[in-house]
Amino acid sequence: MPSISESGTGSMDSDNARNNTQANPRYDVLAICCAISLTLLGLGGWLTYLGLGPWYETLEFPSFQPPPWVFTPVWTVVLALLAVATWLVVRNDRGRQSNIAIGLYGAQCVLNAMWSLLFFTVRRPDIALWELLALDFVVLAMIVTYGNASRLAGLLLIPYLAWVSFATAINGWIVEHNYRTDRSTPMNLQCLNHEVHMREAIAVAKQNPSAPFGAVLVHGGRNEIVAMGVNKSHLNPTWHGEIAAINDYVDQGGTEWNELVLYTTAEPCCMCQGAITWAGISEVVYGTSIPELMQLGWKQIDVPSREVAGRSWQPNVAITGGILASECGELFQRVDNGK
Ligand SMILES: [Zn+2]
Repeated sequence: MPSISESGTGSMDSDNARNNTQANPRYDVLAICCAISLTLLGLGGWLTYLGLGPWYETLEFPSFQPPPWVFTPVWTVVLALLAVATWLVVRNDRGRQSNIAIGLYGAQCVLNAMWSLLFFTVRRPDIALWELLALDFVVLAMIVTYGNASRLAGLLLIPYLAWVSFATAINGWIVEHNYRTDRSTPMNLQCLNHEVHMREAIAVAKQNPSAPFGAVLVHGGRNEIVAMGVNKSHLNPTWHGEIAAINDYVDQGGTEWNELVLYTTAEPCCMCQGAITWAGISEVVYGTSIPELMQLGWKQIDVPSREVAGRSWQPNVAITGGILASECGELFQRVDNGK
């Protein structure tokens, strides 16, 4: 074991380090550092693999983001250099300086693993960004403290700082471009790509070409469709697309109403918006508006969905109209059934 020089002078430290290095290359430490780097690499890859899915595919990404195959080789090199640098610091034991360096190394390990967890498992790129900024500062502090213990060790961490800074830029871009204007809504709801889900509502609507009112319920946190419904008013006059989707969710035993976003090809009528409010659904996205439906000759009760929601105990429910408006409008235009 190298002796820890708590109060030694610089020259004593250098001698100590030289003696330590010559006496014991500490390959056991190198092996441990490599094992930790491999664990970080494997954990990051595993969390990324588990976290990919529809929610990720609907995100917008910057043009400067490298292709997916680049990440593993770069992380392998960066983490290998980290292992060698940490080995050099432990080997050139400088007492308190080395202890600080090892403390920073531990913090870096936690922050590195946490980022994948926050971004891919919790699906909160916004929180992951703050966490990544903390990692940037820790790596910068490591370059200084490692550099004090061994100049080479400090230099070996520069690719790590460059890479996490680049990752921070990508993460920052993703947050900036996937937020809608309402920043009070959690990121995992904001990441929903409205057009993707409206296309699904349109596909459902096409099941009834004579009344193409289709709706899908999307779970915001998981960004996946949990229920759907199409207008069947020829069987039951209250069976509008939205009502059918709500009943489909009930039939499946669903209870997470405030996690749901309802996508519908046409603005909810006052009956449906009433049902949406009673259900506690937090967000509505529609294609064609009630005035547009009336212009196309559809019978409608001329009350805007915002007014129905606005007169309830939940007046701030988010309602967004005009998503894929031309595709939805085309559905209703095609129908010539005297409505
Ligand atoms: Zn309705």
